[in-house]
Amino acid sequence: MSEHTPIGIRPALDTVPAYVAGKPATVRADLTVYKVSSNENPYPPLPSVLDVVREAAASVNRYPDPGVTGLTDALAERLAVPRERIATGTGSVGVLGQIVQATCDPGDEVIYAWRSFEAYPIVVALAGGVSVQVPLTEDSRHDLDAMADAVTDRTKVIIVCTPNNPTGPAVTQSELAAFIERVPERVLIIIDEAYLEFVADSGGTDPVDALALHRAHPNVAVLRTFSKAYGLAGLRVGYAVAHEPVAAALRKTAVPFGVNSLAQVAAVASLQAYDELDERVRALVAERDRVQAALADAGWKLPDSQANFVWFPLGERTPDFVAAADEAGLVVRAYGTDGVRVTIGEPEANDRLIEVATAFLN
Ligand SMILES: *Cc1c(COP(=O)(O)O)cnc(C)c1O
Repeated sequence: MSEHTPIGIRPALDTVPAYVAGKPATVRADLTVYKVSSNENPYPPLPSVLDVVREAAASVNRYPDPGVTGLTDALAERLAVPRERIATGTGSVGVLGQIVQATCDPGDEVIYAWRSFEAYPIVVALAGGVSVQVPLTEDSRHDLDAMADAVTDRTKVIIVCTPNNPTGPAVTQSELAAFIERVPERVLIIIDEAYLEFVADSGGTDPVDALALHRAHPNVAVLRTFSKAYGLAGLRVGYAVAHEPVAAALRKTAVPFGVNSLAQVAAVASLQAYDELDERVRALVAERDRVQAALADAGWKLPDSQANFVWFPLGERTPDFVAAADEAGLVVRAYGTDGVRVTIGEPEANDRLIEVATAFLN
């Protein structure tokens, strides 16, 4: 129990769940331990990115550009959207917090699938909002029909996480387009594309084109991050693409000078070096496909992941799997007794995952 205080802490904070972060890798004498619990990019920053960060580090006595001008311009050009529609923040979690703050009064509802990203219940509760969690389908996908059915007069925001963290499947463009048609225009739909770059672009799968949906619908916004494919998790920078009234509201709710100067230049340099980063993304996607194929051969029936992780719906056996992985030097992410998420990391880490998971079945 927390200590009693006469200070008027908002009761809404009592409902804020704690964020369970990925555990750090423990140092072991007998083997290299891999932290595959936070969906981080295993590659170090590109030399060209490190160079601009080093250079910018010499001026950290100055405040960053509060308008995040360089990055906003670079994003507007790359995404071919007006710069007024871009709002940056301290990671896309930061931007999501701004979204909820800008839209929800106490008691207003935010709908999202569950399980999904653990930051969702936190940012909603912080704003005094109410989370409406719609269970995933049997095969760990969004149940978009049930999500549309869950809309009430109090619904302000719906978050669609695609590919879904922690389970992996993506929704399709036709599913999402049909869903948007069912949602009233007064409800803001956020398409969280933290793992966009890892989605297989094989034509037959009807991949989501979130920016096209955004262009076509005033109530659709896209949320993206530099933390995953771009490998800048430690710098905290993400953004939303939203229609102007929403983007303007997000700029108002931003922490002044929130996106620091190192993050701003690193993000710009990463956009410039995207072809080089994309080679790494392709390599991670190839590793993901290798791991999924090996696990299927071993007898695992896992949801089809389109992201940089795989999901084991283990139920009560979750702690046993965590222990077996730990024994093999893999720090994985457990979700209660739902299952385990494992990030695709270095090939050695992926090999160990295949070994552990194969042995676990036998
Ligand atoms: C990792 C992740 C983010 C991005 O978080 P940052 O705050 O940008 O580091 C957003 N959404 C989902 C679903 C994620 O998994």
